Amino acid sequence: MSSPTTPALPSRARVVVIGGGIIGTSIAYHLGHLGWTDTVLVERDQLTSGTTWHAAGLMVTFGSTSETSTALRTYTRDLYTRLEAETGLATGFKPVGFIELAADEGRLEEYRRVSTFNRHCGVDVHEVSPREVAEMFPLARTDDLLAGFYVAGDGRVNPVDVTMSMAKGARQRGVTIAQGVSVLDVGVRDGRVRSVVTDHGTIECEYVVNAAGMWARQLGARSGVSIPLQAAEHYYLITEQMEGLDPSWPVIEDPANFGYYREEVGGLMIGLFEP
Ligand SMILES: Cc1cc2nc3c(=O)[nH]c(=O)nc-3n(C[C@H](O)[C@H](O)[C@H](O)COP(=O)(O)OP(=O)(O)OC[C@H]3O[C@@H](n4cnc5c(N)ncnc54)[C@H](O)[C@@H]3O)c2cc1C
Repeated sequence: MSSPTTPALPSRARVVVIGGGIIGTSIAYHLGHLGWTDTVLVERDQLTSGTTWHAAGLMVTFGSTSETSTALRTYTRDLYTRLEAETGLATGFKPVGFIELAADEGRLEEYRRVSTFNRHCGVDVHEVSPREVAEMFPLARTDDLLAGFYVAGDGRVNPVDVTMSMAKGARQRGVTIAQGVSVLDVGVRDGRVRSVVTDHGTIECEYVVNAAGMWARQLGARSGVSIPLQAAEHYYLITEQMEGLDPSWPVIEDPANFGYYREEVGGLMIGLFEP
């Protein structure tokens, strides 16, 4: 059965993107901008229904020691700022700022080095004192801190809104987005991709992009392609509303305690990483 959002699938396309999370949708959006408008994105359920809807929405440019990764981060932040003007759909980007905490000498030295490198890459990061951290995020205990590393232009986004905005931008460029369509197999002949087989028919194509997130490994394995991807569990919790918590406070990351913290609908979002 086709859902109301499932268009008739074309029988041919230059590119088929598999997966309508933020990554697949971004690929479709950027292909559209590059003129590759003969692109079909195929999502088995609805856009964002995989991992994307659950993301905490931290938009952080600080912290990478790779020039490429830092360029991707700054490009992305810029895109989230200007996407609404292009598509009419907001991304929910709020540049409330971001602070990475250093609670021991090792991290302090590491983050000072990372800051120097990140500034070289165009990230406007500054070291701030524990007192300044407390001024910006009064709920934080700061007597055990050595410093914070603050990027005023970073912050948070709504991952669903970002995806929907990019999907609209892709459609505006002529990209087809088909939801409720599962990819069953990728057809290969003479060592080349020839088609994508779905539960709504087959699309002949030249290129396939596997953007199936944590399902990408299984999808690749069906075609004998090894994708070294392993899903890791990750959680956050959101407290009841708390008196005095201000949505304009920055996002805080505290690697010594494997956590990140930000305001969410009047409560505190607490994200926890595995040690
Ligand atoms: C609790 C939590 C918090 C997070 N917080 C952040 C954060 O603050 N900042 C950040 O940058 N990242 C965060 N992440 C990570 C982020 O959510 C993921 O990296 C991102 O959403 C992955 O997007 P994706 O498009 O690769 O995958 P997905 O969103 O999972 O999309 C893959 C899509 O492929 C589809 N699919 C799979 N198989 C098929 C098939 N055979 N046919 C058709 N479609 C198929 C699925 O239905 C799915 O919609 C967080 C993750 C979690 C779990």
